[in-house]
Amino acid sequence: MPRLNIIVPVKRVIDYAIRPRVNAAKSVIETNGVKYSLNPFCEIAVEEAVRLRELHKDAVESITVVSAGNSKAQDTLRSGLAMGADKAVLIDTGIADATMLDLEPLAVAKLLDAYVKKAGANVVILGKQSIDDDSNQTGQILAGLLNWPQATNASKVEIDTDSGVATVTREVDGGSETLSAPLPLVITTDLRLNTPRYTKLQDIMKAKKKKTETLKPADLGVDITPRLQTISLADPPKRTGGAKVPDVDSLIGKLKEAGAI
Ligand code: AMP
Repeated sequence: MPRLNIIVPVKRVIDYAIRPRVNAAKSVIETNGVKYSLNPFCEIAVEEAVRLRELHKDAVESITVVSAGNSKAQDTLRSGLAMGADKAVLIDTGIADATMLDLEPLAVAKLLDAYVKKAGANVVILGKQSIDDDSNQTGQILAGLLNWPQATNASKVEIDTDSGVATVTREVDGGSETLSAPLPLVITTDLRLNTPRYTKLQDIMKAKKKKTETLKPADLGVDITPRLQTISLADPPKRTGGAKVPDVDSLIGKLKEAGAI
């Protein structure tokens, strides 16, 4: 079995602790002065790749983090390098932060498909979902384009590096399911897969010396023109204050009044 050449696609997203603000007039999310971080599910994916190397040592040839976005995604890539990835690739689409939702999962999957083939990778570990567009599509589309098997929403990953067979436990409705598939394989991570490590200052400093490559979509022969148009973007409706009712009959009355039943 060839050594594991692992690619981890990572996305720069508005930090999970920040409440996004909508600019309804322009149908975009406000991005000025907003804190961005590595998408939490991608962080779990990097952690898993690093754990695979800690476990299998020389059987892992390399771990590459890849991000499609703009030059600010260099920070995101550096977070992946600080966690233990060997090298980083920025696919610079030139898309501005405010319109990043225009970079659709199909376009990202096409970019990744081209890069995975170019790099000769045999394992891709993605997050199951980006917390900004909540698409949960990129890994599945990528597996389709590559014509590889896929194990999504993984909560446990084991790879037999002699036989090249992976065994993946997945979170499914009402329980878990265990699948096995030969490499090459696309895996997407669920929350319970692992707890990402805390990166120390010295790892962050070391990451600055690791190799980063920048490519353009055209270098990969991919057209990223959006196929969808956002018609409108709106904040969720404001919550109105609650009220106490003395008994069940008045509760039913109130619900009828509000048209809820
Ligand atoms: P999504 O399909 O947008 O919910 O994203 C699922 C996963 O695909 C993410 O957790 C990433 O691993 C990967 N991904 C999505 N967008 C990008 C991007 N712009 N660059 C790199 N990886 C991405």
